[in-house]
Amino acid sequence: MAKLQIEPIACLTDNYAYLVHEGGLCAVVDPSEPEPVQAALAVRGLKLTHILNTHHHWDHTGGNRALKTAFDAVVVGPEKDRDRIPEIDIGVDEAQGWRFGAHMVRILEVPAHTKGAIAFVFDGAVFTGDTLFTMGCGRLFEGTPAMMHASLAKLMALPDDTAVYCGHEYTMNNGRFALTLEPGNRDLQARMKDVEAARIKGRPTVPSSIGLEKRTNPFVRTGSAEIRAVLKMENAEAVDMFAEMRRRKDSF
Ligand code: ZN
Ligand code: FE
Repeated sequence: MAKLQIEPIACLTDNYAYLVHEGGLCAVVDPSEPEPVQAALAVRGLKLTHILNTHHHWDHTGGNRALKTAFDAVVVGPEKDRDRIPEIDIGVDEAQGWRFGAHMVRILEVPAHTKGAIAFVFDGAVFTGDTLFTMGCGRLFEGTPAMMHASLAKLMALPDDTAVYCGHEYTMNNGRFALTLEPGNRDLQARMKDVEAARIKGRPTVPSSIGLEKRTNPFVRTGSAEIRAVLKMENAEAVDMFAEMRRRKDSF
């Protein structure tokens, strides 16, 4: 089985759509808008076959209609949010998974940013939408801290070498926030140097990996003694620490 090619496409101000292709199969994950996706396809001589949506927000589905019309592509999204995914053809859930050609794709249901949010797990890569970000996580628009805490834990159970492709380029700001909680984390300091170098050159900071997030993302580091000390929550439950970090980030 050939390896899937994955390529980020910058959309809007800080969104990423992704091309996932192999042979005659080509999917786009979370197309905010059609034009940059069509340009990326044209440059590579690819024809779109599938549109995958991690959640219903317009900055992840805004390109669905135009791209479906232009390519007769099949729209795949969360079955539980079928009513809010424009032009959906196939609803997927965690129990059933989904098949992309010869590739079995695991679906993880990761509610909290939205109730119906899902992540697509391909061979060695996960598309996390606005649930897990590089050094951050999404806002709790339709869920509780406990829901997001559980959703992030589900993602952290993937192998450490799984590549993480998220919905936005928020890495620099997320990293600055992370440093307020864990200034002594060497992995975090080193990662921020890499991130600054990449952004100066205009390069994307995706993909990350599950292992790198475990070492540098405060939202999955509720066990960190330094973060606990900074928050003065040495003996708190993990979910309460998560809630406090999310609350602080909302006004960072
Ligand atoms: Zn969103
Ligand atoms: Fe978004």
